[in-house]
Amino acid sequence: MDMHISERRQIENEMIFRRVNEKIGDGLDDLDAMHIEDNKPHLIRDKDLLLHFKCECSDENCDARIAIKLSVYREIHENRDAFIIKLNHQVTAIEKVILSEDSYSVVEKNNSTDEPGDTLNTTSINNK
Ligand SMILES: [Zn+2]
Repeated sequence: MDMHISERRQIENEMIFRRVNEKIGDGLDDLDAMHIEDNKPHLIRDKDLLLHFKCECSDENCDARIAIKLSVYREIHENRDAFIIKLNHQVTAIEKVILSEDSYSVVEKNNSTDEPGDTLNTTSINNK
């Protein structure tokens, strides 16, 4: 059994799940922008909306949800090595828990690896 391949796979799974979650947050921002344009500010969501993010653990079959405020979620992910998972979903071979709350843990990778895929190229041009 080749641990290296499976560990890499597990790390990639987490990065993919995190990307899915981040799209949820971005979609909400777009929605807010629409409400502002339509002059319907009352439709703008509460900044601290509780969302049910997907568990970002390495198990591709895990479909656990974690209730976490969008603002907290984003704060945690300012650390690009951090992933938010359900309690006890960490895989100690590839990651360590850096923070534990009542309903979730934050883990950091032991080894960083490049993010898979393409869409995470951030641009320095602010075109909003
Ligand atoms: Zn999980």
